[in-house]
Amino acid sequence: MIDGQTRIIGIFGDPIAHTRSPAMHNAAFRACNLPYAYVPFLVLPKELARAVRSIRSLNLVGVNVTVPHKERVVRHLDALSTEAELCGAVNTIVNRNGELFGDNTDGRGFLASLQERGFSPRRREVILIGAGGSARAVLVSLTRAGCKQVTIVNRTWANAQALVRTYRSVGKTRLEALSLEALREPELLGSAALVINSTSVGLHGESFFPLAYEATSRTCVFYDLLYRPDLTSFLKPAKKTRRPVYDGRGMLLHQGALAFTLWTNTPAPLAAMARALAQALRRSA
Ligand code: NDP
Repeated sequence: MIDGQTRIIGIFGDPIAHTRSPAMHNAAFRACNLPYAYVPFLVLPKELARAVRSIRSLNLVGVNVTVPHKERVVRHLDALSTEAELCGAVNTIVNRNGELFGDNTDGRGFLASLQERGFSPRRREVILIGAGGSARAVLVSLTRAGCKQVTIVNRTWANAQALVRTYRSVGKTRLEALSLEALREPELLGSAALVINSTSVGLHGESFFPLAYEATSRTCVFYDLLYRPDLTSFLKPAKKTRRPVYDGRGMLLHQGALAFTLWTNTPAPLAAMARALAQALRRSA
């Protein structure tokens, strides 16, 4: 019920109609009996600065930030978490009595989703396909988690190389940039404990790039940041070769859970959030 006590949290994006975050967060507020409501805001790029200022003027608790604003919003904030600073991107803003604090829970959400399934990236070799915004967040989290090596494989090699240059000195993780052809190389795939798709390829059912699935170890985890009602074209052959497969729902859930706690100082009701997310995904299937 919305009444005079209700506090508002939102999500800024363009487009925004597809977002499942309101379903997930409103279920969480209900489960914890908290007087909050979470609403979508369509914010056009030219309105971003004004929309951010409105967080203060409307006394919002905070907001999530999604495509295309995650990077551009940084310059409008008062303080940043280490992750947000390292990623150069923010997905969660907390209004601390008028001071706008930006955090990035994507990478920590990704790690939490691995941990939930009993996988630790520490001292492991990882192949990260893609070099965009989500790859940055995942890469920062992997280096902070003590990965031994991350090989970034991308269509535009220069973008992968830019990530290597930026994050080479963040931790002790060895970083390398390769182009997509490398995914056919049995030696590269053979030493990987985790292969991640952080590109948008497969979102609309397109086929994935040739990849030496059979060359990976039996325990190698295939993780697609995308989520669809059915398996993505990246995960299908992995499943067929009986490798463990994870999709992007875990990351979405855990980045949301971390944001929920930042706003409410309350542990997130994960089961209620996961149920609401699954329902929302089924509805839009
Ligand atoms: P970006 O636009 O920042 O990056 C896109 C990446 O995909 C780039 O590496 C780009 O390569 C590559 N790419 C795009 N099209 C093609 C193609 N046709 N062939 C080869 N490579 C291609 O996107 P994001 O990183 O922000 O997001 C990527 C996906 O991850 C999105 O679809 C999003 O839904 C998902 N995501 C999921 C999250 C979750 O919580 N589960 C969180 C964040 C994102 P190039 O450099 O050559 O252009």
